[in-house]
Amino acid sequence: MEIKLSEEMVPDDLDKAEIISIKVQSGDKITAEEVVMDLEADKTNISLTANRAGEVDEILVAEEDEVEVGTVLMTIDSTAEEDFLEEESSVEKRREEESEITIIGGGPGGYVAALEAAKQGADVTLVEKESLGGTCLNWGCIPTKALVRSAEVYTNLKEAADFGCRADGVDFKWSEIIKRKENIVAKLKQGIDSLLAKHNVEVIAGQAQLLDEGTVGVMKDTEELVIESEEIILATGSQSVELPIVAKEAEDKILYSKEALDLDELPEKMVIIGGGVIGLEFAFIFSRLDVEVTVIEYLDEVLSMLDSDLIAEITEAAQEDGIQIYTSAEVKKIRTTADGEALVEFKREDKEEFITAAKVLMAVGRRPDLGGLDVDKIGVEIDERTGGIQVNDKMETSVDGIYAIGDVTGKTQLAHAASHQGIVAVENIRGQEVKMDYNALPKAIFTAPEIAAVGLTEEEAASKDREIAVGKFPVAANGKALTLGETTGFIKLISDAETGQILGGAIIGPHATDLIAEMTLALKNELSAEEVIETVHAHPTSAESIHEAALALRPEGALHYAD
Ligand code: FAD
Repeated sequence: MEIKLSEEMVPDDLDKAEIISIKVQSGDKITAEEVVMDLEADKTNISLTANRAGEVDEILVAEEDEVEVGTVLMTIDSTAEEDFLEEESSVEKRREEESEITIIGGGPGGYVAALEAAKQGADVTLVEKESLGGTCLNWGCIPTKALVRSAEVYTNLKEAADFGCRADGVDFKWSEIIKRKENIVAKLKQGIDSLLAKHNVEVIAGQAQLLDEGTVGVMKDTEELVIESEEIILATGSQSVELPIVAKEAEDKILYSKEALDLDELPEKMVIIGGGVIGLEFAFIFSRLDVEVTVIEYLDEVLSMLDSDLIAEITEAAQEDGIQIYTSAEVKKIRTTADGEALVEFKREDKEEFITAAKVLMAVGRRPDLGGLDVDKIGVEIDERTGGIQVNDKMETSVDGIYAIGDVTGKTQLAHAASHQGIVAVENIRGQEVKMDYNALPKAIFTAPEIAAVGLTEEEAASKDREIAVGKFPVAANGKALTLGETTGFIKLISDAETGQILGGAIIGPHATDLIAEMTLALKNELSAEEVIETVHAHPTSAESIHEAALALRPEGALHYAD
């Protein structure tokens, strides 16, 4: 099979790219997801995967070559589809099955869709190549939050005196923190296993291939399974973006989120490249566990999707925690020093700067993982902008009977969005007319303090053709926050000035990621500020701040705060 530089890989208006590095040699065995080559086109990095497992046959280009769209870069002896069916010698057993719904990928998108479909009476098969629960449970949401909690307990213990308590000789053991995290993951995985079993979902461990629009093949060791399926849901998730800026000798200094969760020991110093959600969550975790952390962000601000008042608050909190943040800074190269440390070279305000660290965490984003499925071969359209599988609001792809959900669609990268998209796909398969609503989709960020937001930001709401009102209430004026000893942050509600309808909201402060549920409910049900005001909130709770922010939308302002 030939691997070419295709038109979709390079940005619009370009027809060339430069080969930055070639990661494989002739004769290497590769997996479908493995990055085989890094290219660059007009400063856009392109990580090329073969999208097929096999053996590298011939490499037809060299590093630093400039290649045009259509150029054959290498050839692969593929073990995919054709071989899948033809490779008789290694196949000892072949099974054929039929299924109503086959789901590829057992993350929060896929396994939730499987449970929902089974609950609705469908005959469901779920194929997972690695570990049920996907990125979220194994290498994402849950393990990071287990670490967030350990870092929080350690911080609280250090601050015990503020609460009139004594905790002498406060310390932590990283290996125990990792063990706790693993126990939580194992428990939840067991829960998913037993739920799927209870609902008679057939779970197949193995790498799925799409043989045609109604057939899925799974190869596991020497067993081959061919599943004829009425409907197929693709839920193959996403993977970390790699930048072609790492010198070969520095490769062992580089971590991605997956490896950062399984470090044998904590480094003294860490550089995190990328000040997005994943980068900042890790920055707070490691910094609170006494690692000297520096975040380098290409854009003008960290967490740039948020309103500037939230960004200012979290930047200040990060700096108080000892996190060094460089913004508008472009990392150019990562090499090693003579002492064997990582040397991160970056450019900021036209000046070349560098910083050394034991480890560098790359958190520069994630891209849809097409799962090595060769989806375009059967006509499934790919969104050129995101590289994800194109879907409509019913989660249908361009091919009848094939749906896609979760990170692979390139729509969002949130576990709860993946799960909800899964439910929407199943409802549509079962004959309902259901659409995915992205307006009331909450975001939760587990920094310290936590941040959560839903609906329009203040900047987005203000840019529309309408008058808006903004009600803000400081966490420091909330009784519960004082008892918690966590007084940084504020709550903000944005409404239509004329109708009072809630358009969006954000919280930075204690329990923000739980409190956002109330704002989400208000937004989803098109409630007005007045309806939130008329709702009695328990005392003393953090939720009272939402009530106060709604009161602050009125000209009279909040009850317990006057600015
Ligand atoms: P995934 O969870 O990635 O699952 C896809 C599954 O498909 C994988 O298990 C994979 O092995 C399998 N697969 C792929 N190809 C094949 C194939 N060919 N055959 C069989 N199986 C296949 N989101 C939040 O909402 N909250 C958070 O706090 C949060 N924290 C995060 C922290 C980190 C460090 C990271 C990396 C992500 C975090 N996310 C968080 C994002 C969240 O993990 C993803 O949005 C979510 O996992 C997407 O779910 P999914 O089902 O689409 O894909």
